[in-house]
Amino acid sequence: MEKYLVKPESKLSLRKHNCSDTGIFLGNKAKCRKATAALRDELVGLQDVLYAQHKYKVLVVLQAMDTGGKDGAVKGVFEGLNPLGVHAISFKAPTPVELEHDYLWRIHSQVPASGEMVIFNRSHYEDVLVVRVKNLVPAEVSDKRFGHIRDFERMLSDNGTVIFKFFLHIDADEQKKRLQARLEDKDKHWKFNIGDLADRKLWDDFQAAYEEAIERTSTVEAPWYVVPSNKKWYRDYVIAKVMVDRLKALKMTYPENKDDLSKVVIQ
Ligand code: ADP
Repeated sequence: MEKYLVKPESKLSLRKHNCSDTGIFLGNKAKCRKATAALRDELVGLQDVLYAQHKYKVLVVLQAMDTGGKDGAVKGVFEGLNPLGVHAISFKAPTPVELEHDYLWRIHSQVPASGEMVIFNRSHYEDVLVVRVKNLVPAEVSDKRFGHIRDFERMLSDNGTVIFKFFLHIDADEQKKRLQARLEDKDKHWKFNIGDLADRKLWDDFQAAYEEAIERTSTVEAPWYVVPSNKKWYRDYVIAKVMVDRLKALKMTYPENKDDLSKVVIQ
């Protein structure tokens, strides 16, 4: 999965990333789905130890253009995990109360505790993406945020948080297809947001903002992955694979019971 990793201090050109890449599966959806199912089983096992050991915290950040598949990825990758130890949270446009605080306030209050896995569906990155594209705060204010975010994530990492950041990368044609599908299916109308059309017109600006944000915040402790996401099944595979590989490397173990259980007799 190295090829999707954005190395710290490196330049990123999203245009050069093939959104329809299917890696080793060469378009074989059935084979890929099978591999993802196996990874999901592994993830279930890893979450079980994470929860029991209570040592690490896991934060997953999902960012994408509209229709990029954040909701789908939450379902496709994390289904089957123990609900006691995992939850997802969607960050919408800030409320008036949230706007009265610094932009990381609402984010910090939702980060995972020990043993937990939390998935951010949108995140503090909106504060350097949509906010910069639409000039919601002066550029000199938002520019400082890259440094804040790097420091914030380093602090989380120093406190035992394993951070995954995934940009689900679709191209403009794929977005058009997905918007069209939403328009044509009454059951998908609830997902159709007229405002998304205005954002679609700003496609290039958003891509440039993503490039800058990812370049400036991909760090050793909190690296970004650009996930080819035109094929939903490959998107889910990449996310699951990156997570399983990194979580396995932590060599988490179940805690020992301090009592001597060898002499316990259950009457
Ligand atoms: P989603 O598209 O994630 O399914 P919505 O359609 O409700 O959910 O969109 C949420 C909106 O909130 C997006 O347009 C996003 O840009 C906006 N948003 C999220 N965080 C912020 C923020 N910090 N500042 C401004 N807008 C934000």
